[in-house]
Amino acid sequence: MSWPERVAAALALRRKSQTLRVRTPVRQGCGRFLTRGEQRWRNFSSNDYLGLSQHPAVVAAWQEGARRYGVGSGGSGHITGYSEAHRRLELRLAQWLGYPRALLFISGFAANHAVISALAQRGDRFIADRLSHASLLEAVSQSQAELRRFAHNSTAALRHMLEKPCTGQRLVITEGVFSMDGDSAPLAAIAAPTREAGAWLLVDDAHGAGVTGEAGRGSCAQAGVTPELLIVTFGKAFGVSGAAVLCSEALADYLLQFARHLIYSTAMPPAQAQAISAALEILAGEEGETLRARLQDNIQRLRNGAAALPLAASPTAIQPLIVGDNAVALALADSLRERGFWVNAIRPPAVSPGSARLRLTLSAAHCPEDIDALLEALHVCCE
Ligand SMILES: *Cc1c(COP(=O)(O)O)cnc(C)c1O
Repeated sequence: MSWPERVAAALALRRKSQTLRVRTPVRQGCGRFLTRGEQRWRNFSSNDYLGLSQHPAVVAAWQEGARRYGVGSGGSGHITGYSEAHRRLELRLAQWLGYPRALLFISGFAANHAVISALAQRGDRFIADRLSHASLLEAVSQSQAELRRFAHNSTAALRHMLEKPCTGQRLVITEGVFSMDGDSAPLAAIAAPTREAGAWLLVDDAHGAGVTGEAGRGSCAQAGVTPELLIVTFGKAFGVSGAAVLCSEALADYLLQFARHLIYSTAMPPAQAQAISAALEILAGEEGETLRARLQDNIQRLRNGAAALPLAASPTAIQPLIVGDNAVALALADSLRERGFWVNAIRPPAVSPGSARLRLTLSAAHCPEDIDALLEALHVCCE
């Protein structure tokens, strides 16, 4: 097949299986409403769980940072891109989460790739929950380490894999809150056999940080677990963008030498680091408590009203409505959109075949009335 033929065939296949991905330009994509031109929808698709993307203090911190530092960082952190704003944020994150060090990355995707490829050597075995995020699974399969996947949240399957001999080092990989299902990993029951086997643990808490646990410290704090590597991201509850890896002094120094995403890539703008710091102060403080309580109320309200709907058993802001068939999921998303709700149909390969779903995400930015209106529309559309 020639290049043009290959591209055309791949697109045709996606169209045929109703898995073609398209983008829609919006005026505003997070917060309570999604707006496009003059139209607006109640937004049940963004990961802005606490509504911080629009918070005046976070917006002002970014503006003030831009005035002070300009809009760019000018280079990688090893050259000119590591500012006082970056350093303050790293120190505060480390203190907040109880780690010796934090290192900032441009995104969660980059952080996962960087850490996994910097650690993996031939002979190593990286053991990941089957439903781990694409950035984690892809990074391992592109690395020198061997990838093994265990059944979702099965500590028995994990234990079994840890009993097998391995000549290299082992790293166990899971998420705090799973991005497409909204359920949580049994972190304490994963950490214990991992430690006994002399393996390390990496937890990607993209959807837990800021939302769950005491003062929003996330899934690991909630489970009383301190993995060797904790990944938190700032594009979800923090309402901004970027990520950090929390780890030991030695591991941070190692990553500064060997994480190529830190060495060959421009650092995040200092103003962005300042905005993330402002989001962190809100999350970690009293207002964070209020926002988390509001989010919990919204989750409860939806679940209480959804007994007749095929909602997965998720206690978090991610509430998947599993319909199975791709075309059915798409049609459902379309009819909700016609009724004024922005909801996305998630289809394979993002989820396993036959488990297409509407991934409803709730936010503290929603009012009780938004949840009630969504429930009413869901009941009509699902009939
Ligand atoms: C969103 C997400 C990422 C990627 O983070 P970005 O900052 O958006 O690149 C990584 N892991 C999980 C589990 C995620 O949900």
